[in-house]
Amino acid sequence: QHQPEGIEYPELPGATCVHKFHDGPTYGYSFTWKRFESFVTERNIPVLYETPGRELIQDGETREIIGVRAEKDGKSVFIKARRGVVLTCGGFENNQEMIRNYLPGVSYCYPSGTPYNEGDGIAMALSVGADLWHMNNFAGPSMALKVPEFPATFSIQALHFAKEYPGGMIIVGPDGGRFYDEKFKHRHGKVPINGVWSPMHVPTPMFMVFDQDMMSAAPLYNKNPNRGWTPIITRYDWSDDNSAELEKGWIKKGETIEDLARTIGLDPAALGATVERWNAQTAAGEDADFGRKLMLSPLAKGPFYAMELSPSMINTQGGPRRNEKARVLRPDGTPIPRLYSAGELGSIYSYLYQGTGNIGECLAFGRIAGRNVAAETAWS
Ligand SMILES: Cc1cc2nc3c(=O)[nH]c(=O)nc-3n(C[C@H](O)[C@H](O)[C@H](O)COP(=O)(O)OP(=O)(O)OC[C@H]3O[C@@H](n4cnc5c(N)ncnc54)[C@H](O)[C@@H]3O)c2cc1C
Repeated sequence: QHQPEGIEYPELPGATCVHKFHDGPTYGYSFTWKRFESFVTERNIPVLYETPGRELIQDGETREIIGVRAEKDGKSVFIKARRGVVLTCGGFENNQEMIRNYLPGVSYCYPSGTPYNEGDGIAMALSVGADLWHMNNFAGPSMALKVPEFPATFSIQALHFAKEYPGGMIIVGPDGGRFYDEKFKHRHGKVPINGVWSPMHVPTPMFMVFDQDMMSAAPLYNKNPNRGWTPIITRYDWSDDNSAELEKGWIKKGETIEDLARTIGLDPAALGATVERWNAQTAAGEDADFGRKLMLSPLAKGPFYAMELSPSMINTQGGPRRNEKARVLRPDGTPIPRLYSAGELGSIYSYLYQGTGNIGECLAFGRIAGRNVAAETAWS
């Protein structure tokens, strides 16, 4: 299915060059992965699991990349490259220090995808003199549940821009006030602020506050295993009536809004005033504060509930700077000999992200890097 009109930022210059194919149930999701995996298994390419690369080995004089030091069971494993090294070990979705240092507007953020992308490729590339680019660009933030028991986030159904739930629901920040249209269809975490698409404001800790009607309506989590680490890998079996998650403390309960506020550490008067204002606006049929159009229902029926939400992201875009030949560059623009990269580790997306562009870039730069490294002279 070819939908060039479905691209994420059609208003930006150059958007007509972008062509998007999206058909998840037929070609996407795990089908894409299985196809990619078959290219490796059919050619018997060995994959060393649980052997993370830790260091690039560089010739002290020529600065060529000779190979990699990896670790297996706590011991170093040295792997000599035949012609060169292609870094493809993803971004820094699960490195909280890098997130604080590089991503705008978030003091922490959790991945909805793999928790094993911890910025190792960035550390390795920096150590051999690479420049970095696009470190402040990421596909996020959105808001999701993160619990200590599991490494990635849970997507909450009532926050989906198109899904309607019975009952009342708002999201508040640490001051007990709302801060946005909770049902806005953001673009990978970007919203228009003064006419510019910018990262969504996520004042942490944030709480989704809702009433008994929403609690009783359906599971709050979408466990359909079509995308994301938690549904596909963790496969947590969320209870149909949300009672198990209430029991675990992932959802908090209060007989009144003020009780609930005390339980989650918010000012009872502030949260009470926010709910009162929201309820009055729903009665008038208009969210005068943020223009929300969906689920304009009051928080009417107690007891009341709250779930803490965390900033969540799909992936980061930054990493070592590469050129059109997929060669990793130094700050002066010269390539580091025999070092290449592909994928989201130093992706080409600098400011915003045209949705679906990451896999496309993996294919394009994977091929470019592969061809160019194969054309290098083999070590004797
Ligand atoms: C929920 C979700 C939905 C998405 N939807 C889309 C979409 O519709 N279209 C699209 O284009 N993109 C989408 N993306 C983004 C896209 O999937 C990724 O950007 C892309 O898969 C990145 O591929 P990669 O090979 O660069 O990195 P990854 O696929 O992240 O692979 C990196 C690998 O490196 C491994 N690794 C990490 N550190 C080391 C180390 N030190 N040594 C060795 N290995 C290491 C990791 O374990 C991981 O297996 C989505 C992402 C998520 C999470």
